[in-house]
Amino acid sequence: MAHALLKGGTGDWEMVIGLEVHAQVLTKSKLFSGASADFGAAPNAQVSPVDAGMPGMLPVINKECVEKAVRTGLGLNAKINPVSVFERKNYFYPDLPQGYQISQYQHPIVGNGEVEIDLPDGTIKKVGIERLHLEQDAGKSLHDQHPTKSYVDLNRSGNPLMEIVSKPDMRSPEEAGAYVTKLRAIVRYLGTCDGNMDEGSMRCDVNVSVRRPGAELGTRCEIKNVNSVRFVQQAIEYEARRQIEIIEGGGKIHQETRLFDTKQGATRSMRSKEDAHDYRYFPDPDLLPLTVDAAFVEKIRTSMPELPDAMKKRFIEKFGLSPYDASVLVSEKERAEYFETVAKGRDPKLAANWVLTELLGALHKAEKDLSQSPVKAEQLGGLIALISDNTISGRIAKEVFAEMFGTGKNPADIVKDRGLQQVTDTGAIEKIVAEVVKENPDKVAEYKSGKDKLFGFFVGQIMKKSGGKANPGMVNDLLKKKLEE
Ligand code: ADP
Ligand code: MG
Repeated sequence: MAHALLKGGTGDWEMVIGLEVHAQVLTKSKLFSGASADFGAAPNAQVSPVDAGMPGMLPVINKECVEKAVRTGLGLNAKINPVSVFERKNYFYPDLPQGYQISQYQHPIVGNGEVEIDLPDGTIKKVGIERLHLEQDAGKSLHDQHPTKSYVDLNRSGNPLMEIVSKPDMRSPEEAGAYVTKLRAIVRYLGTCDGNMDEGSMRCDVNVSVRRPGAELGTRCEIKNVNSVRFVQQAIEYEARRQIEIIEGGGKIHQETRLFDTKQGATRSMRSKEDAHDYRYFPDPDLLPLTVDAAFVEKIRTSMPELPDAMKKRFIEKFGLSPYDASVLVSEKERAEYFETVAKGRDPKLAANWVLTELLGALHKAEKDLSQSPVKAEQLGGLIALISDNTISGRIAKEVFAEMFGTGKNPADIVKDRGLQQVTDTGAIEKIVAEVVKENPDKVAEYKSGKDKLFGFFVGQIMKKSGGKANPGMVNDLLKKKLEE
């Protein structure tokens, strides 16, 4: 896709975007302690002496986190490094009791990789992955609990994070949105992160710069902790325009860290960017270099689930779905699974249509998630089977679906209770055809003198008389025969 250039007062500008995504590893316990990593507990209910930075405590690596970081790395088509090193990233902050964060710096567990993103116009673009490393999360300062005091909640302290760093490969807010959406789908398919951005288990630092098309990279600003796809896009849009205005006004961009104010829709300065060496990184003397051997990686590789790209390809090739429909179906794991259950042993295109239009439409209207759907996949499949074997027409099926959605009842029961079975008895349809023809002699005459369009009128009358239950194909055939008499 030709990416959008921004018009400035002095010519065109190109946006350059790179994202650092923090994804909390889906585990029971923290990265270096046995305390629970669950969200939503009472403040400081999940804090071990390690997470509180007590002297003399030793961190012990959680193997599950290593396994999930490798699994995620493989999902990003990335190189897994056999040896990686945990280092101390030193800084002072009230919610950081150790006085440092254990992170990986020069030797991350996962190296270069690549993700494909699906753009709204149906094209695909590749975005490079620079690295993925493991690190501890910090605690949380609470400033709204007391008029003059701040409180600290250490539940989050030591939670396992994967930081996934992209190359500066994105060129528009849409591409950045598609990237975050794809990453979230991948970690959810893998089961390595729940991807819930509203609970903070996935959050983004957004790096933005602008340049003349094709010129050297410009100076970037980093917008911290953006927690929804929509905010990522809004922040980029605002930040790029702000930078263009400064440069066109004769100013310079200074590298800095900014915040996105969701109420104003604007970014504002938080602090000037500290140089990386201000953190005084050094290998954590309490932890040996982390080694993952080939057998460990191979074991994970052989247990990888089918990922969204592969599934999309299969839906297109095996089921004949359009690339767009397939990408919408695989964008959420639960949706893809629902569709596969509906489509199993049934007409896949019809199944895709019903899931994408009727079901998702009804859910959207009712403000419900797929998990709260009153219509289960097996039930929707049953409805599709009733259409395919001509028990009901597509039109009646919509009526049945509405009742299924409202009551959770099975389609076959609704059809039976309300007597909605399609009439496929030739004699019964012939009878209605004859009646309609007899009741409209002048229209028949008009039709015979060449007014072909009236055919639809007769069909409408017949369907109405049959309560919408006559088989439309048979009505067509029998009516044609009758009018030719
Ligand atoms: P740091 O750790 O200091 O934030 P990194 O070199 O790890 O710095 O880069 C962080 C992110 O910034 C990466 O996602 C990278 O793609 C992005 N980035 C680097 N240079 C630019 C630039 N000129 N414009 C936009 N993004 C950039
Ligand atoms: Mg950064």
